[in-house]
Order: sequence, then C-alpha cells, then structure tokens
Amino acid sequence: MKPLLENDKLVCAHQGVVQLKSDKGKELLLDDNGVITASDLLNASISGCSHNILGVPKPCTKILQIPPNALSETLSVQGEGVVLEDMVSIIMTDNGVPLQLQNSQEKSLELDK
Ligand SMILES: [Zn+2]
Repeated sequence: MKPLLENDKLVCAHQGVVQLKSDKGKELLLDDNGVITASDLLNASISGCSHNILGVPKPCTKILQIPPNALSETLSVQGEGVVLEDMVSIIMTDNGVPLQLQNSQEKSLELDK
C-alpha cells in the first residue's frame, strides 16, 4: 500500500475536495511532498461538497473519524500512523459518506502489505 501525500486529491462522494495539509507528517517527505498522518487528515476541511437534502445544502465539512485499519502499522511520524491511500474508502465524512482518491500517482514507497 502507498502512503497518502499532501499532493494527493481526495474527494467526498459528492466531489467536495479535502484540503490536505501535511502538518505533523511534513517531517517525512516522499517525492518532495509531506505524508499525511491521522491528525493531519482529521483536521482537514472539505470544500465544495454538493450534498443537499430536498434542496437544502448539507455539505460534508470535515472528516468524522479514521478507522485504525486506514493507518499504516509500520510507518509513523511523530507518533502517528500514516494514512494509507489504498484505505481511504473506509474513512467517513461528517455526512457518513466515504472518501475517494481522485488520482493515483506513482510513489516510491510501499508500506505494509
Ligand atoms: Zn460530501
């Protein structure tokens, strides 16, 4: 599996864009981009989500929780597991919908299995 990086593009099921920022993870650069740790993703906001209920906007605005399975068991930065790009579909927004990776780019590091 590959680590999630700051320049990856994550969206919610309604095409809202997760504002990825490597904060704790920036201690570890891969291909010039900081990795994304659990708290980096938990603190990320989501913008542009089109979700509405009967015409009333109810956009996804943040990540609700990150299941442990979405984090690397072998790589951590400042005590936090690195988010695995292959597992973002089990991470939910505050509307209870999963995240999707919009681009899959070449990465020079493989983690776990
Ligand atoms: Zn959404």
